[in-house]
Amino acid sequence: MIPEKSPKVVELEGRLLSFMEEHIYPNEARFYRESEDLGPWAVTPVVEELKVKAKAAGLWNLFLPASERGAGLSNLEYAPLCEIMGRTHMAPEVFNCSAPDTGNMEVLERYGSDADKERWLKPLLNGEIRSAFAMTEPAVASSDARNIESSIRREGDEYVINGRKWYTTGGTDPRCKIIIFMGKTDPEAETYKQQSMILVPMDTPGITVERALPVFGFYGVPDRAAEILFENVRVPASNMLLGEGRGFEIAQGRLGPGRIHHCMRLIGLAERTLEKMCARAEDRMAFGKLLSEQSVSRERIAQSRILIEQSRLLTLRAAHLMDTVGNKQARAEIAMIKVAVPDMACKVIDWAIQMFGGGGTGNDFGLAAAYATARLLRLADGPDEVHRDQIARLEFKRQAGRNDTGGVRNWAPAVSAMALGTAPRA
Ligand SMILES: Cc1cc2nc3c(=O)[nH]c(=O)nc-3n(C[C@H](O)[C@H](O)[C@H](O)COP(=O)(O)OP(=O)(O)OC[C@H]3O[C@@H](n4cnc5c(N)ncnc54)[C@H](O)[C@@H]3O)c2cc1C
Repeated sequence: MIPEKSPKVVELEGRLLSFMEEHIYPNEARFYRESEDLGPWAVTPVVEELKVKAKAAGLWNLFLPASERGAGLSNLEYAPLCEIMGRTHMAPEVFNCSAPDTGNMEVLERYGSDADKERWLKPLLNGEIRSAFAMTEPAVASSDARNIESSIRREGDEYVINGRKWYTTGGTDPRCKIIIFMGKTDPEAETYKQQSMILVPMDTPGITVERALPVFGFYGVPDRAAEILFENVRVPASNMLLGEGRGFEIAQGRLGPGRIHHCMRLIGLAERTLEKMCARAEDRMAFGKLLSEQSVSRERIAQSRILIEQSRLLTLRAAHLMDTVGNKQARAEIAMIKVAVPDMACKVIDWAIQMFGGGGTGNDFGLAAAYATARLLRLADGPDEVHRDQIARLEFKRQAGRNDTGGVRNWAPAVSAMALGTAPRA
């Protein structure tokens, strides 16, 4: 049973919807044009302009549960708001609620020292700087974080960092000032104690952002991914988060909220796509019929509605569990939505692209960028297969000891006796 929205959420939702109508949708075309013209290494002016307005409207940092810094909403309360922001690529950043900053801010909030909070969290919360999370490496299968090879070596009062990272979101953004870096402090320690996370200011000597990486050929939108080289990068020992060997612990804390936010946003994106699909179907004639009269369109529209509602309910349930029993207890549900929601969004957006014909593959209707966003989320924050593997592991654990294969053991002899004609018939 999903609880009703609180009056606070209803009020925020109303203001958010008005802001979207007044400032976000009318500026979408400008956003795509500026992103394309300026590329992934530049700030997009329309976003900076709208951030000022969003902050003034009090629609700012809604994701952050700690009430003295953010809106103080639970995951369940944040869900409908995050969904609204997800309807368009630009909105989450305008409201200072975008990845990877939200996850990084939560790490700083939970594990940063007072000095870290003052230096990094404060400007992040103010939307003055941006941040990156550097775990994935080109040389190893990084979906298994135990493989991460970069080194973080202690030398006196400093750590020396070496490694090559890629798909570091935000790495090309000139506003990106701080990286949360994952690497090995002790390759000899027990497996889950080898990795650590450390704060690395972007302007530290030895860091080279070598190139922007495209996602399905697009640079910047949907992602400012970068390949970054770290060569003898020295940072103070106090930049270590939580302590040596505690990288996995931090990753667990960071990934729950990060994953559910991705899912909430994708539900919004799928919902908007369905709206576009219906509008197009009611407007376009082919072979003497509106597309909305073709049964295949009706099938796909109905199926999209079913899939979106299923995803939303599963996501709200995961949010409710995170709020009530904690992220660890909700890990199966978090893994389930991380598989189900991007898959749903890919299907819905793919049907929309098909319905829009050639125009669906371009930028005029925002569908190609939407597809890239949904598709990349079948990989980012862990590929589908890894989450399914976790779900299966938890399911086996849940079923352990039941040993019920359907009763075959009990009635098989009776069946064979019947087949032989030796069993008494009723
Ligand atoms: C646009 C984008 C943005 C990203 N942003 C960031 C970021 O900001 N920071 C960051 O650190 N990383 C980021 N990533 C990286 C992302 O998290 C990794 O790509 C992902 O974890 C997979 O790691 P990998 O690429 O090394 O693939 P690999 O680990 O090499 O896996 C490749 C494939 O192997 C298969 N596979 C792996 N494990 C299993 C299994 N257990 N069972 C069955 N099959 C399996 C899957 O099909 C998987 O896709 C981003 C990726 C993209 C595409």
